[in-house]
Amino acid sequence: MSDTRSAELYRRALRVLPGGVNSPVRAMRAIGRDPIFVSHGSGAELTDVDGNVYVDYVCSWGPLIHGHAHPVILEAIVTAAALGTTYGAPTAGEVGLAEAVAARMPAVDMLRMTSSGTEATMSAIRLARAATGRVKVLKFAGAYHGHVDGLLASAGSGLATQGIPSSPGVPPSAAADTLIVPWNDADAVRTAFADHELAAVLVEPYPANMGLIPPAHGFLELLRDLCTGYDALLVFDEVITGFRVAPGGAQELTGVLPDLTIMGKVLGGGLPAAAYGGAASLMERIAPAGDVYQAGTLSGNPLAVAAGRAALELLDEQAYLTLSDLTHTLAAGLRDAAGDRPVSVVSTTGLVTVFFAPEPPTDYASAMACDADAYGAWCRALLARGVYPPPSQFEAWFPSLAHTSDHVARTVEAAAAAFAEIAP
Ligand SMILES: *Cc1c(COP(=O)(O)O)cnc(C)c1O
Repeated sequence: MSDTRSAELYRRALRVLPGGVNSPVRAMRAIGRDPIFVSHGSGAELTDVDGNVYVDYVCSWGPLIHGHAHPVILEAIVTAAALGTTYGAPTAGEVGLAEAVAARMPAVDMLRMTSSGTEATMSAIRLARAATGRVKVLKFAGAYHGHVDGLLASAGSGLATQGIPSSPGVPPSAAADTLIVPWNDADAVRTAFADHELAAVLVEPYPANMGLIPPAHGFLELLRDLCTGYDALLVFDEVITGFRVAPGGAQELTGVLPDLTIMGKVLGGGLPAAAYGGAASLMERIAPAGDVYQAGTLSGNPLAVAAGRAALELLDEQAYLTLSDLTHTLAAGLRDAAGDRPVSVVSTTGLVTVFFAPEPPTDYASAMACDADAYGAWCRALLARGVYPPPSQFEAWFPSLAHTSDHVARTVEAAAAAFAEIAP
């Protein structure tokens, strides 16, 4: 029997890459199948090495708000590359990108770039600890802020999917300085503040790494008030929500302003770039303006900066209206396709999660109660019909501006057929 190209690549990959991949969720183990090896992407579509075409709702897990290989972004990258790919010295481009970010994000006047969201989180925590002279950080169960040691105390996303409560190799001392509280649990947060001296509250304002679970009414406002009252810093991890749910991210959408903001994904336009930022008075603690050390060989990389600037420039007011409409149509279509099955569809601009639960989850525990096996079966049925959803119950779909109403119609049709296949 002749092998598919994917199967052959996977066999080779398993010999030289742990689990055959460079990031766990790509392996698709949570939905009980082998990974897809990508040949190329164009707009909202992805083609695998065997020639199968998919409507892509992973979109690299968030960066591709303009879809794959957008011509304007490609041109910006190619133009930048011809001038040299990295200098380790300042450029006009990074100044322009920082200005563009500061203009959009209400709580960001000054920022420092890094190459990944993980690095940005790690550095923001260092700054928060330096600024407050305290050590402890509060995070929410099921939130993901990158693979920072101290934050792998109870993670969502990849880890939750694989059923590992925490990771070996994380020193108990690192995890001990992290407090974990259930999302949307106001009393637990109040108690944590009363019992501990907190440097910071780290929060995905619209958590999307346990599936999308918006904040309860008033919850972000409560976090803001408590942080102000106890002199702790409120840190918004807007790696997913930044430039996606609104031009100025969740802080613009909700009007709740954090002290520090972590950005990534869309910021790099599909190349590796992330950043953390806030008021100048706080950010000037970072070296060489101040005494908090943080550095990076490829930080502010000219290709990533060019891609990020092009991506942000394309995100005008109309873009958000289009993305909002498209997200709404997709979510409504998926809801219709599910009919009266025990499925709930949650969405906000640019983000959707199809929960295999009769009611939308409100925290990590209720997210974990979803029927992940049924989700897996449904995903396999979708993939067989040319639709590529996130291969985990605990992730968001990332519709992009490259998705058309035709893509959405194809998706909804495939979704209905997939529902009928798994639970007629
Ligand atoms: C993806 C993500 C990160 C980590 O970013 P990397 O670039 O993968 O290190 C941090 N926070 C959130 C909310 C994310 O979704």
